[in-house]
Amino acid sequence: MDEETRRAEQVLETLKAHFGVPQLVGVENDPFNLLVRTIISQSTAEANTQRAYQNLSRKFSIEPKVLANAEIAEIEEALKVAGLHRNKARVLKRVAAQVLEKFNGSLSFIHDLTMENARRELMRLPGVGPKTADVLLLFSAQKPTLPVDTHVNRVSKRLNLVPMDAGYDVVRERLQKLYPPDEYLSVHLLFISLGRKYCRALRPAHAVCPVRKFCPSAET
Ligand code: SF4
Repeated sequence: MDEETRRAEQVLETLKAHFGVPQLVGVENDPFNLLVRTIISQSTAEANTQRAYQNLSRKFSIEPKVLANAEIAEIEEALKVAGLHRNKARVLKRVAAQVLEKFNGSLSFIHDLTMENARRELMRLPGVGPKTADVLLLFSAQKPTLPVDTHVNRVSKRLNLVPMDAGYDVVRERLQKLYPPDEYLSVHLLFISLGRKYCRALRPAHAVCPVRKFCPSAET
């Protein structure tokens, strides 16, 4: 094992010891529910995403047929607590209509296709970029991909596991080389926990960070 892979492994082991080993829960099992939740979460804090998703699910059953036929104004009202709620309401209605038309109301193809084909099909849907596609593939279909959200991106770069100027696919591919596929879920979730609690965008808490001894940015 080379030095870099060893350091990456030590970071992960330390995060598991600090935050616990992440487990899958609830909404991830149904890909359409997860898609709706992931679209709501774009540029929105976790607490507000949660509240908006709960508002929406109190009002509607989260199914393509229901959201495709819902009034935009009612979806907007439910999403008000999340940012960009007008835009997100339109995207949700359009994506629901396309899942209904193109895939007969089911995203179950993500289990059946190869990962690259499933990723390509998902990314043809409105509001679905690489991160959203990877979230669905990892959480709902247990495919070997590692979604890179804003926290995963920032933390990986500060830890110098990936180059500072790397774009989405370079970060994802580099992390996927550093870690075995059965750790992708843990890496994704634990890097998010690290980014939220210690390695914040502004004023990162280097002094109390659990992985500071493996981090070249700890003194900056
Ligand atoms: S030591 Fe600082 S830069 Fe490094 S991971 Fe921790 S908070 Fe982030």
